[in-house]
Amino acid sequence: MRIFSLLFLLLSCQSVMAALNIKQVAKGIYVHQGVIAVPNTHNHDEIANIGFIVGKQCVAVIDSGGNPKQGAMLKKAIEKITKTKICYVINPHGHPDHIFGNRVFENIPNIQFIGHKKLARAMAVRGSFYIARSKEQMGIKLRDKDIIPPTVAVKNTLRLDLGGRTLVLTAHPTAHTDNDLTVFDEATETIWLSDLLFISHLPVLDGSIKGWLAEIEKLEKRQFDVVIPGHGAIDRNWPEGMQAEKSYLQNLAQEMRLKIKQGIFLEDVLREFDQSAAQGWLLFNDFHKKNLSSAYAELEWED
Ligand SMILES: [Zn+2]
Repeated sequence: MRIFSLLFLLLSCQSVMAALNIKQVAKGIYVHQGVIAVPNTHNHDEIANIGFIVGKQCVAVIDSGGNPKQGAMLKKAIEKITKTKICYVINPHGHPDHIFGNRVFENIPNIQFIGHKKLARAMAVRGSFYIARSKEQMGIKLRDKDIIPPTVAVKNTLRLDLGGRTLVLTAHPTAHTDNDLTVFDEATETIWLSDLLFISHLPVLDGSIKGWLAEIEKLEKRQFDVVIPGHGAIDRNWPEGMQAEKSYLQNLAQEMRLKIKQGIFLEDVLREFDQSAAQGWLLFNDFHKKNLSSAYAELEWED
């Protein structure tokens, strides 16, 4: 009898784990690593790394997932792992693969949604566009009510006491986007960088290349035991783990500055660019041209 109930317990735990493939990457920090892919009707935009941090009094969700169903799976996984209540949902920026799980946490009493001070605006500006394209892009029709803006806006930094561990949230200047927020767990020296760090997945520029490189320079001077990127594997080798992204962005800036100096128009840049930048990055063909355009537009007007 005992063996059976133990077996059942093991199997039921495993099925939750398998459903979201959640791993404990540091004490009380759980991450589901997303597949490295563009959003499509098969993966339903379930592509980002998402997860949660468990304290003695509170759980903080970080990155709620790409759609409400994935948010619900995450919520279920949390409830299987701990009885501690979910107090916070932290959205490290407003891209759809990171925010559309929010709605399933909305009915938890006293829940707070936390984001960068510019997140609400980003959601207001882009939200209806994401919703309008959701059926075609990810095979799930999202609705207006799936946009849950932050109830707490972080201006500079915010300390969150989860009970026995404190998270330090930092609102960054424009980098990957204009609303990047990172989460540092003092207890385990883990930093959740979300999309300030891409591993294997080509970095995607939607903010400022100069700003992003400046943030990288500040971050690489700090010490972290565990680093959680927005896409790709957990990094335990900081700052080496960030060097591929850094050199991709540095080369991109250098190449665009040269083309601009040579008077080459953007359309010609996009027609004939250096393929060696691919360097083993996944999704290079999906995002490199967009990065060229963004970097060109930004650097064209620098002093
Ligand atoms: Zn992003």
